Amino acid sequence: MQILKDKIRQEGKVLSDNVLKVDSFLNHQIDPTLMKEIGEEFAERFRNSTITKILSIESSGIAPATMTGLALGVPVIFARKRKSLTLSDDLYTASVYSYTKKESNDISISKDFIHDDDTVLIIDDFLANGQAAFGLMKIVEQTGASLAGIGIVIEKGFQPGGKLIRDRGIRVESLTTIRSLQNGIVEFFEEVHA
Ligand code: 5GP
Repeated sequence: MQILKDKIRQEGKVLSDNVLKVDSFLNHQIDPTLMKEIGEEFAERFRNSTITKILSIESSGIAPATMTGLALGVPVIFARKRKSLTLSDDLYTASVYSYTKKESNDISISKDFIHDDDTVLIIDDFLANGQAAFGLMKIVEQTGASLAGIGIVIEKGFQPGGKLIRDRGIRVESLTTIRSLQNGIVEFFEEVHA
């Protein structure tokens, strides 16, 4: 998605060989016009999948997920991050390991919002090692719903998450895929993965 690549080139800050900061339009300040286009692009790519719910994770997945829900005309649920594992009959819960924070957190959603007759599209801001996506996939599994695929705003193609998920036969649509952040320079793959 060219407009997204341009924005990353203009405003993205390479913090290390592994981390890209995009606080000016996605992770802190949000560019609503760009988010709208992102939502429409995901909606277009998954138009034929008869999505009934979008599932994301707080907080940075919420903006692109909401715009996708708006474009597809379906509700958006975001998983909440919870520090400790407190079993509750009313929740679907999964554990997510964060390589950046070096800790595991539980994420959960209420059982009220996704059911076994739903078709779910997962949306998140970044795909790196895939832990957040796997956590969301575990939640979808528990609901009994079908998973249509995963939409990612920025995939870091040099980290293993995308391959691990695609190897399971799951459709991953990334709007932009980064080949490398080495030497402070953002390099993109020319084509996004299908
Ligand atoms: P994963 O679970 O795939 O390793 O990482 C996914 C989550 O980590 C994303 O939802 C995002 O919040 C965060 N993340 C991973 N890599 C980056 C990065 O380079 N920049 C930013 N801003 N967030 C990242």
